[in-house]
Amino acid sequence: MEVIKKYGLLGANIAYSFSPNLHNRMFQLNGIDGFYSLIDIPREEFSLDVLTEYVRSFSGFNVTIPYKEAILGFLDEVDERARKIGAVNTVVSEDGKWIGYNTDYDGFMFLFNQLDLREKRNATILGAGGAAKMVYQALMDLGFDDISVVSRSRNCDETYFKKARCINYTSLELNRKPVDLLVNCTPLGMGSHIETMPVSRELLLHHDAVIDLIYNPPETMLMREASKIGIKVLGGLDMLIVQALEAESLWTGHSMNTEKNRLMLMGMFR
Ligand code: NAP
Repeated sequence: MEVIKKYGLLGANIAYSFSPNLHNRMFQLNGIDGFYSLIDIPREEFSLDVLTEYVRSFSGFNVTIPYKEAILGFLDEVDERARKIGAVNTVVSEDGKWIGYNTDYDGFMFLFNQLDLREKRNATILGAGGAAKMVYQALMDLGFDDISVVSRSRNCDETYFKKARCINYTSLELNRKPVDLLVNCTPLGMGSHIETMPVSRELLLHHDAVIDLIYNPPETMLMREASKIGIKVLGGLDMLIVQALEAESLWTGHSMNTEKNRLMLMGMFR
């Protein structure tokens, strides 16, 4: 008898998540005996003992807000890149050990490579949370050497963003200069902030390209305004899809991040 392998998404208040649909569809289309569900643990109930009990029979799982950093304490091993980023979004059970990876990084790199930027020197990162840290690491790896991290309180973790300038939004708007890439790593543009732009239209004029990590809606106000100006724009949907397929590659040992699978998943969101 085939044993169905269990996978899931660990997070808090994640009933909204697309991940079960997305992964179960991929398992079905690729003939994989897997089932993906939500591991929704409220913050006040979370402990490593509770998690151990939940995932005892799982073959792997993804991790989202607010546990991407807390999960490090649960893992037996963390791959080098995830350790450098300081956050894990994919966990694999291997020979009785829990091993952590960061496939958001792969998703971001996939987005970035589609931009085909002329210059890769300076960048503005909006937000200073988990996604901003991953983007900072990716941009450093890509050779960007002039990075500003923008936070409302200018309260970014300077021990982490060592080679970046930590500024607030006022300073960003006052000191406009040509910048190769702007990456939105805040929730401004989604949910209750759907009609909000994190920066002014005037500031966008100074950028060559914009990546908005938000994937729902597929086109944010920031992306619309940047498109009107005629600069290169990408949203977070491809990143969501690629991080999911790279997680499945780690779980199954097969390369799942194929064009065919990406196109099939894109179709689910249209
Ligand atoms: P997070 O750790 O909570 O960080 C969010 C950051 O946004 C905070 O550092 C905060 O910075 C800033 N922020 C929060 N509310 C704000 C507001 N009202 N106005 C201005 N800034 C605000 O979240 P995260 O995990 O980094 O995620 C950030 C975004 O990336 C989310 O929109 C998420 O959906 C998206 N994301 C997408 C993918 C994908 O696959 N496409 C993957 C991961 C994340 P300050 O308080 O310092 O200003």
